[in-house]
Amino acid sequence: MSSNTFPNATILGYPRIGPNRELKKAVESYWKGDSTHAELNAAAEALQDRTIDRLVELGLSAADSSIPADFALYDQVLDTTAALGALPQRFADLGGPDGEVGTDAYFTLARGDKERQPLEMTKWFDTNYHYLVPEIGPETPFRALADGLAGIVKRQSARGNTLRPVLVGPVTYLLLSKPEEGAPEGFDPLDRLDDAVAAYRGIIAQLAAAGAEWVQLDEPGLVTERGSTLVPLAEKAYAALAGEKEYDGVARPSLFVTTGYGTAGDITAPGAGLAALASTGIEAVHADLVRGAIPAAGQLTALGATRLVAGVVDGRNIWRNDLAASLQTLVGLESAVAGDLAVATTTSMLHVPHDVTLEPSLPEHLPGWLAFADQKVAEVLTLAKGLADGTAGIEAEIAASDAAIEHRASFAGTRVESVRQRQAALTEQDIDRAPAEQRAEAQKARLNLPDLPTTTIGSFPQTGEVRKARAEFRAGKITAEQYDQFLKEEIARVVALQEDLGLDVLVHGEPERNDMVQYFAENFDGFAETVNGWVQSYGSRCTRPSILWGDVTRPAAFTAPWTRYAQSLTEKPLKGMLTGPVTILAWSFVRNDQPLGETADQVALALRDEIADLEADGTAIIQVDEPALRELLPLRAADQASYLKWSVESFRLATSGVRPDTQIHTHLCYSEFGEVIAGIDGLNADVTSIEAARSKMEVAADLAEFGYRRGVGPGVYDIHSPRVPSTEEVESLIKTAIANVPLPQLWINPDCGLKTRGYEETVASLRNVVAATESARAAL
Ligand code: GLN
Ligand code: ZN
Repeated sequence: MSSNTFPNATILGYPRIGPNRELKKAVESYWKGDSTHAELNAAAEALQDRTIDRLVELGLSAADSSIPADFALYDQVLDTTAALGALPQRFADLGGPDGEVGTDAYFTLARGDKERQPLEMTKWFDTNYHYLVPEIGPETPFRALADGLAGIVKRQSARGNTLRPVLVGPVTYLLLSKPEEGAPEGFDPLDRLDDAVAAYRGIIAQLAAAGAEWVQLDEPGLVTERGSTLVPLAEKAYAALAGEKEYDGVARPSLFVTTGYGTAGDITAPGAGLAALASTGIEAVHADLVRGAIPAAGQLTALGATRLVAGVVDGRNIWRNDLAASLQTLVGLESAVAGDLAVATTTSMLHVPHDVTLEPSLPEHLPGWLAFADQKVAEVLTLAKGLADGTAGIEAEIAASDAAIEHRASFAGTRVESVRQRQAALTEQDIDRAPAEQRAEAQKARLNLPDLPTTTIGSFPQTGEVRKARAEFRAGKITAEQYDQFLKEEIARVVALQEDLGLDVLVHGEPERNDMVQYFAENFDGFAETVNGWVQSYGSRCTRPSILWGDVTRPAAFTAPWTRYAQSLTEKPLKGMLTGPVTILAWSFVRNDQPLGETADQVALALRDEIADLEADGTAIIQVDEPALRELLPLRAADQASYLKWSVESFRLATSGVRPDTQIHTHLCYSEFGEVIAGIDGLNADVTSIEAARSKMEVAADLAEFGYRRGVGPGVYDIHSPRVPSTEEVESLIKTAIANVPLPQLWINPDCGLKTRGYEETVASLRNVVAATESARAAL
C-alpha cells in the first residue's frame, strides 16, 4: 500500500521519442504497414525499459515512484482521452465492446481516416508541442479504461519497478477540450467536470490495482489567464478525488498534482492556488519556480501536510542550472513549509533533447553550458542532496556550475562589442518608415500589379530529389558546385512553372532550406546546431531547434544570391524571402542571460543587413515570415502588452531600413487573430498573408470589423491536405474577401507554404486559384 512519502527527487516527465528517435521509427513503420502490432508493442516496451534503466543509471530510484510512467505513443492528452474512453460521436464506432480505444482507434483519432478529419491539433500552452484537442459534448461517455497505462505499471512492477503513472488532470483536460460539434450554444466542456472526476476515480483505482502508489495529475491549465476561476473547480475535483483515503474500501494511491508553465491561480497572490489544491487532501503539489512566482510564506504554511515539490530545474530550456541560486530558493522555501521539500523539474522534459553527450559536433565551448534531459536529472538529484546535506554536500557540483556560468559570461562570443554598440545607438527612427499611404503609392508605381495580385507564400514542394541532393551534399557525396547547380536548376524550374501558371509575384521556392529557422541559424553567428537534439513537436514529428547562445551577427549575404539568380530568370517581380526575428527565437533554444527582446533585436539587425543586400540588388518585394508571433504570446494577459511591444518592434527593426517603394510582406500561419490584430497592424508591413481557407474566410469579418487598412492576402487554398479546391470554391472565397476588404488592399494566395505538398495537387490547385482570380477580376 501507499507509503505516502513522496520521493525527494523526481522529474515530471522525460523525452518520449528516444535518443535515436526509436518511437518515431516504430510508430511510422507501423503506420506504413511495415511492422505488426506486436512489433510496435515490443518496440514501445523496449523503449520504456531503456528509459527506466537509463534513469536508474542516472541515479533516480525505480522503487519509490520517482520515475513517471509517461509513455504516450502519440500524445499525452490523447492518452487521457483513451483512458477516459471519451470518444466524440463522430468517432463513436471506433470504441470496442466496452468503449475501449485500441491502438488503431487511437491512431485514427490522431490521424483521421478516409471519411474523417482527425482531432484538431493545437499548441500545448506557450510551447512548440502540439496536442490533440478532445471533443466533448453533453453526452460524451466518460469511462475508466486505464488498461494501457495500468499494463505498463504492471509490467514494470514485475521487473521490480514502482512507477508513478501520469495523466492530464480533469480540469486541464476539460479546459483544453472543445465543445463537440452540435453541442448546445453556451456548452462548456468544463460543465462535465463531475462526470469526468467520477471516471478519473475509476482510472486511479485501476492504476492502484496495477501497483501504483502515486498517481501524477498534470494541471497546467491552472497557470493560464483563466487560472483564478479554475482553482475553485480544481478544489471541487480534487476534494472528490482526495477527500477519502479509500475508494470503495480499497486504499487509493497518493495523489500528486503538478502546475508547470507558470503560477497556479491568482498571480497577485502567489502560492494561493497551491494552498487551495493542498486543502483538498492531495498528498503532494508541484510548483514551477522558474516561470512561476515563488509562493508567499503564508501560503507555504497553508500547505500543511501536503508535500511541496519544487520545480527548480527548467524543463523547457537547455541551459545548465545555476545550482547555487536554485539551492538558495529551495532553502528559502524549506524554512516555510511544514514538511520536507522535494526537488523536481518545472515541467515534463518533453521539450528538451535527451543527452548533451550524444552531440558530436557542438563548438568546444558549448557543451559545458548545457543540460539536456539526462543532465537535468543529475541536477535534480544534486539539488536534493544539497537540500538534505547542506551546501557542503554538493560543493564540487556548485563549483562546476559557478565555473560554467562564469565561463559563459566572459566568453568572447557572448558579448560582441560591435553588436552592443549598434544596439545602444538605435533610435525610434530605426523602427519607422514613411507613412503607409505614401509607401503604397510609391510601390504601386514601381510594381504596376493588376487588381487581386496573385502570389504564393514562398516554398514549393520539397521533392524527394531536393532532399536527396541536400543529404548527398551533407554527406560529401556531391560537391558544393554540384549542389549549387542542382539548386539553380530547381529554382529555374519553379520560376518557369510560376510563369506558366500566370502568377503575378513569383518566389524562388526555397529548395536550399531544410527548415525556415535552422537555415538562418546556420548562416548567422551566435547559433549552434545539434545533430541528435530532436524534440517532439507532435505525434512522430520532431524538430531539432538550434541553440542561440551568443550575440548574433550575419557574416555575409546568404539569401540574396539565390533571389538575385531567380529574379534574373523572369520579368515579373520576385519576392525575397526571410524568417522573422520572433519566429527564429520561438523555434530555437534561446540564451536565458538577457531579456528575449534584446536577443530579438540582435536577430532583427542581422536580418536588416540581409534585407539591405536584397534591396541593393533591386528586389522590390521582401517577405519576412512571422508564423510564430502568436505562439510566443504569454499565457497571462498582464504579460502580453510588453511581449507585443518587443516582438513587434523587433520586426520593425528588421524591416524599416528600406525605401518607401520597397514593399514589405509578412506571413502569419494562423487564422484566429482577433486577439493580436492590433499587434499585426503594428508590424507596419505593407502586405500580410494569413491562413483563411481552412476557416472559410472567417477572418475577412475580423478584418472588416477592425477596419484593417493595409494590404492583406487571406488564404484561398488550404495547403494542409492534398485536396484540390475547385475554381468555384476559390472564387467564392475571393468574393467573401472582396465583400469585406477594400479591393486595392487584397492579395490572392494559398494559406501557407507548399513545402509539404506534392507537385500534382499543387499545380492543379494553383491553376484553379489563378482561374478563379481571373474570373473574379472579370466580374469587378
Ligand atoms: N515562407 C515559408 C514557406 O513558404 C513560410 C512557412 C510558414 O509560414 N510556416 O514555407
Ligand atoms: Zn504559414
